[in-house]
This record gives sequence, C-alpha cells and structure tokens, in this order.
Amino acid sequence: MVVVMKPGAPKEMIVKLEKKLESLGCIVHKSQGQDYCLLGLVGDTRSIDQSQIEANNYVEKILQVEYPFKLASRMFHPENTVVDVCGHKIGDNSITIMAGPCAVESEEQLLTIAHLVQKAGAHILRGGAFKPRTSPYSFQGMEEEGLKLLRKAKEQTGMPIVTEAMCVETFDLVNEYTDIIQIGARNMQNYALLKKAGKSRTPILLKRGMSATIEEWLMSAEYIIAEGNTNVILCERGIRTFEKYTRNTLDLSAVPMIKELSHLPIIVDPSHGTGKWSMVEPMSKAAVAAGADGLIIEVHHQPEMAISDGAQSLKPENFAKLMTSIHKISALLS
Ligand code: PEP
Ligand code: MN
Repeated sequence: MVVVMKPGAPKEMIVKLEKKLESLGCIVHKSQGQDYCLLGLVGDTRSIDQSQIEANNYVEKILQVEYPFKLASRMFHPENTVVDVCGHKIGDNSITIMAGPCAVESEEQLLTIAHLVQKAGAHILRGGAFKPRTSPYSFQGMEEEGLKLLRKAKEQTGMPIVTEAMCVETFDLVNEYTDIIQIGARNMQNYALLKKAGKSRTPILLKRGMSATIEEWLMSAEYIIAEGNTNVILCERGIRTFEKYTRNTLDLSAVPMIKELSHLPIIVDPSHGTGKWSMVEPMSKAAVAAGADGLIIEVHHQPEMAISDGAQSLKPENFAKLMTSIHKISALLS
C-alpha cells in the first residue's frame, strides 16, 4: 500500500500520519520527491482501515502495489535512483562502463589491464578476487591478495573498484577494499548474504540469477533495500535457456521491463551473457540502445592465457573500439 500525500502537505502532518501507521503495526518508508511525498507501507497492513486514511485532509489517494516487491518498485519511488560511487553517478542517464579481467591473476596482469581500460575510457575497474567456480578444483581467486592488488590499481588509476563477495563470512573483508560489492548470479537468492549487503551502505551490484525471473530478481533487491541499503544496481547477465551456441541467453527485454517496474539502475553484462568475445560489442550496443545505464565487460590483455573466461574477454584494442561505438550510440540517443 502506498499513501500519496497532497502536494504541500505540512511536514508535521506527514510525521503524525507516519506514527499512526506505525502504531498499526506496519513499517513506513517515506519517499520524498521535489513535489510529492509517498508513504510506502510494508509488513502487515491488514489492520489498516483504508477509508480512515483517505479521510485525512492531506492524503491525496491510496495505491495498492500489485507487485510483491515494494521498495524496489517504481510506484513507490517514481524517480530514478542514482547511485553515487566515489562521486561517479550511476543511473543519471549517463552510461557507466565497468571493465577489467574476470579474475585478478597477478599484479602485472591487473595493473596492465587497469591502465589499458582506463585509457580507453572505462569508469570502474572490475576483477574477481573471490571466484565462484563450477569445479572446486579450478582457481578460486587470489582472495585478500587480490583485493590488495585491486586497491593498488585504484591508487594508480583513480578508478573505483567492483568485486564480488561470495559469502557472509568474507563480506566485511571485501567491503574494506571495494567501492561496489558484486553479488553474483549464483548468490542472487542467498538471503543471508542479501541481508548482510542490506546492512552496509556500499553500493551493491546485484546480478540476475541464471534461472531467475525478473520478479525473483527484484525480490532479491527488495531484501537489500528492506535492510536500509538503497544503493542497488541491477545487472542482467543472461539466463539459461535451451540455446547452446551462446553460454547464456542475454535477456535484453529485461532492461525496459526493469525500467517500467523499478527505479533502480540496470547495467548489462554481455560477456557472461554470450560467452563469446565476438558478440560482446554488438550486444553492448543493443543494451545501450535498449536503455541500460551501463555495461560490465571482461577485458584481458592475453585472453588465451586467462585463467578464467578468456573466450569471452575482449582484447584491449577491441575494448577501445567498443568504447567508440558506445559513445556514438549514446550521442544518437541523447
Ligand atoms: C563474474 O562477473 O565474473 C561472474 C562470475 O559473474 P556471474 O555471477 O554473472 O556468473
Ligand atoms: Mn567471468
């Protein structure tokens, strides 16, 4: 239930109503825009008599939220959420490019790639220090050593960092080093991790689970926001279908769908979404044309030597080419 206040409703009347609603047993989330104030009610709203609330002189109307996600819904929060990462804005109609290797492999590898992607115009450096791998025998990441290297790359390039936290136990450690915490596809429904992420104020990059519906994905975002962290960036990274030529099926229809349903920014990962480096540029262009707020792209200076995801990693020169195409597309759109 969303209570829409009349424009110009006095602050003290809004606070009074908030207290009343809280005393009836629900949690009230206030969304204050320039010309409007909305009170989003979550929790048990059964004891609320709608006609009583509507009788309040300062209430314009009551909307029933038809979706199970509330705080993530655009109905509750009509304006786009803009996430601030070290002064860089995500979701403000500009295009944010996150780029870097799948995994941090060594100092030389990370610093080489970091400088190259920065030169090409990337805004944020990606690189996994804790890697979710299908096989327990595969490289699991450099862990804290990798986080230290990411910090060094940030010091040298000024680029903020995005890296994955795989579990509750290592969340705080990762949080000490990074500017955005990635919650990977495999963990999209790790509710303990989502709650932990919600308790921090660090921006969270929430990837879509490989078999998750858009509703399930937004419910996962709801977990984070319900704990108080509104800095959520969604990431479409492809879903599993019967198609075998591509690693995943990149669901670009999720971009306009999310824009309708939610106020959260959404970026696209064409690297995991296709699994093939040759498809990364065309799908990046399509993602930006579809309205995405940015891209996250795997880049490696020697993809044939990459420990993970070499087949989907762009060489730096192809990444630079992609950046030029993206600038052209966004100029056309603006
Ligand atoms: C990654 O970004 O390297 C990764 C493992 O992504 P996903 O969780 O989307 O598979
Ligand atoms: Mn990867």
